Amino acid sequence: MKLIVTFSRKRGREPVIAQVVRDTGVLINVERAQIDSHEGEALIEVPDEACQLVRERMEALGATTRRLDRTILFDRNECVDCGACISICPQEVFSFDEAWRLTVDESRCVLCGKCVLACPHHALSLQL
Ligand code: SF4
Ligand code: SF4
Repeated sequence: MKLIVTFSRKRGREPVIAQVVRDTGVLINVERAQIDSHEGEALIEVPDEACQLVRERMEALGATTRRLDRTILFDRNECVDCGACISICPQEVFSFDEAWRLTVDESRCVLCGKCVLACPHHALSLQL
């Protein structure tokens, strides 16, 4: 399960994610993180069965969490199978099948947005 975790700048200086790993024993995969002058935001992946525990612990530490049920949204009707998204995606989300039709493995997406900008047919958007 993917979660977006947001914490204040003050919290951003503290190891919130590391603290939750230590407290819960749950292994957390940090897929993307960004900290600016006001707040920090991280995209993390946790085992489905531990999601509630991780969220509760993070929120007890002052962070907010949001569950992501979808990541990259693909509009098959707009896609022309040009392959531009395949070459730009750092996560190998896209590939061609035997018939050279685009296939999408949404679970690998880290919401970087590169493919959305690269697609000439506006077939891709992000679930934010
Ligand atoms: S948003 Fe980034 S990681 Fe996700 S599918 Fe697009 S290029 Fe790949
Ligand atoms: S860049 Fe857009 S049109 Fe091209 S294969 Fe990817 S989703 Fe389809």
